[in-house]
Amino acid sequence: MKQKRTFEEGTTLRAAAMIAFFLLLAFITLWLRFGVDSENLHNYLFGAIVFCVALVTVSVFQAFKISENAEAITEKMSQQIIDSAHDLFVELYKKSPVPYILIDRSGLIDSTNIAAIRLFKVGVGELDGKNIFEFIEGDDEVHIDFLSDKFIKGLSINDEEVRIKRSDGTTRWVLLSLFTFNDEKNAEQHGFLTLVDITRQKDIDKAKSEFVSLASHQLRTPLTAMKWSLELLFEKSKDEISEGEMKYLSKIGSNLERMGLLINDFLSVSKFELGTYSVELAPVNFSEVVDELIDENDHRMKEHEVTIEKRFDQNATSITSDPQLLRMIIGNLLTNAIKYSHKGGTVVITAEKEEHKFMIAVADSGMGIPLEDQEMLFTKMFRARNARRDVPEGTGLGLYIVDSAVRTLGGKISFDSAENKGTTFKVELPV
Ligand code: ADP
Repeated sequence: MKQKRTFEEGTTLRAAAMIAFFLLLAFITLWLRFGVDSENLHNYLFGAIVFCVALVTVSVFQAFKISENAEAITEKMSQQIIDSAHDLFVELYKKSPVPYILIDRSGLIDSTNIAAIRLFKVGVGELDGKNIFEFIEGDDEVHIDFLSDKFIKGLSINDEEVRIKRSDGTTRWVLLSLFTFNDEKNAEQHGFLTLVDITRQKDIDKAKSEFVSLASHQLRTPLTAMKWSLELLFEKSKDEISEGEMKYLSKIGSNLERMGLLINDFLSVSKFELGTYSVELAPVNFSEVVDELIDENDHRMKEHEVTIEKRFDQNATSITSDPQLLRMIIGNLLTNAIKYSHKGGTVVITAEKEEHKFMIAVADSGMGIPLEDQEMLFTKMFRARNARRDVPEGTGLGLYIVDSAVRTLGGKISFDSAENKGTTFKVELPV
């Protein structure tokens, strides 16, 4: 409608300008044709000036009207764009295949889209007013409390793996992300929750871990048989086999050893991934465990010309913990410290005990970890670039196992490292 009026106004303006132009043309033609006597000249001029002023006034008036209309049109179009963007957003929110949920500051559900309704197996509006955190299961209670605390503080949550409980009693694994935003009208905090169903990937991961676990178990038996046979061969044929043959047998022995360690690592990884590791706490003589592990690493220490120093607080020689997990933690850290030390280096193991925690540190002055690789260090099968270049032997499973073992025991692990200066791993276990 507005656009039509503007068109009319534009036409009027053009018509007025044309009439004025023709009148002016007629006036000039008459003047040139018949001449003007000096008496009437001022009348002609006055008429022409009045006419021009009138014309300018009409033009300015019309110009203002046009600009007013243009502003109104722009405003209307912007509103139309906002309205259509809003409609589009609402449509996307409703029909997106990703489940979306809007919650208020305390976690109460304001609205759910169709995908969320399907995921939870509920009817439309059935979840409204209920607390979202009641439908989420984490690793433990603390996990969920931690998530809701984070949200209340206005912090975002990214890709957190949790399980959700559905109305039919089943659960699904989801990646939960929660973004906070403020409603400008009421100055209130809200949450926008997305849930990506990863149950299928989890099932595939589980099947893979089960396969690795089964394969590792099956490999153990023939490996043990081979080790025994080799030992028998060593014992019985000591005098009958040549030095060269002995070398080959030793090589077979060390490779069987390596295979055994690798299989143990595979088994540990699959146990942690399947969540089948059951912690069995018992009193452990920490000092003795470290001595045993030093013995087991004897050949490595000799090969790398590394010495080991123990600095234990007097009260830190024993601890109540899971002996197997503790061995995994110290064993892997110690092996790494020796393996990545420079020749002639010293590895220092310290232990301190406080009221509620047992603190262990394994420090070396070896190759260190490049800064850009430090973030990925506890990722499964990750090896830093200097280790890949200088120490070919390694799987990148050790630190993943250490991290999983520490977390299974409810502890924390951290490290300080500088390339070519050394690395210190610190483990804190609850006691
Ligand atoms: P790997 O079998 O490669 O030793 P780990 O999981 O035990 O696997 O360690 C992962 C990577 O972390 C190593 O490849 C190495 O890059 C780095 N790393 C671990 N411990 C040390 C250390 N004490 N000094 C330097 N780098 C280390």
